[in-house]
Amino acid sequence: MNNLEPIQIVPDVYYMQVGPTMVNCGFVVTRDGVVVVDGGPTPAAGVAIREAIARVTDQPIAYVINTHFHSSHTFGNQAFDVPVIAHSRCRQDMQRALTDEWTPEEIERCCQEHRDIAPEMVGLRVTLPSIAFGGTGFLHIGGKLLQLLPLGNHTPDSIAVFLAEQRVVFAGDNLFNGRHPFLRHANASQWADVLRRLESLKIDQAVPGHGRVMERKDVYNLRVYFESLRRAPRHRKGQPHLERIAQV
Ligand SMILES: [Zn+2]
Repeated sequence: MNNLEPIQIVPDVYYMQVGPTMVNCGFVVTRDGVVVVDGGPTPAAGVAIREAIARVTDQPIAYVINTHFHSSHTFGNQAFDVPVIAHSRCRQDMQRALTDEWTPEEIERCCQEHRDIAPEMVGLRVTLPSIAFGGTGFLHIGGKLLQLLPLGNHTPDSIAVFLAEQRVVFAGDNLFNGRHPFLRHANASQWADVLRRLESLKIDQAVPGHGRVMERKDVYNLRVYFESLRRAPRHRKGQPHLERIAQV
């Protein structure tokens, strides 16, 4: 994997885009260590993230936070060797995935299909969160406060990491930039409400799960899009599948 290039959002707060899906990894530098927001999509990506952070600061990494359980955000966890923090549902869903879509056979099949990422997956040890919370989480470290806000929606375990003083939020996959949000585990009808909640935070910038950092107006535009989907005509029960799709 090539060197990653951290982009500064405000002093001490950075993000970088990782790998073919441009999944974002964020980090916050404090005087008591660095907090990483999402560990990257593969073990090799996790190492590249760790090395990129070391080029920015001498502070050691203190914690990794996972915004949700999807592999693009968690398969790099093992590279950091520090406690991983996530919503309690995230730990549960990772445990479930280990018996379902993340069995060794399924991961091998995925690597066969995507030969470009196979070398990065060597040595994968799925690393579960060791610190889990239920409601809002508060991480006070080195003079900074990170609020961990349960959002659900994209996945039931999805959280945002909000830095009120810095007016920045890491929104996980409830925000996408430049591509359509991934809806497989989502309740699309609630999406506009979640975006409204993100807009209600006093933020200047929002880091999406994938794509470049966004401004408040970009969050508004995405919310308007989801509201237009919500107003689209609903399908009638019993209609053929293709006809339903054509209506939306
Ligand atoms: Zn996701």
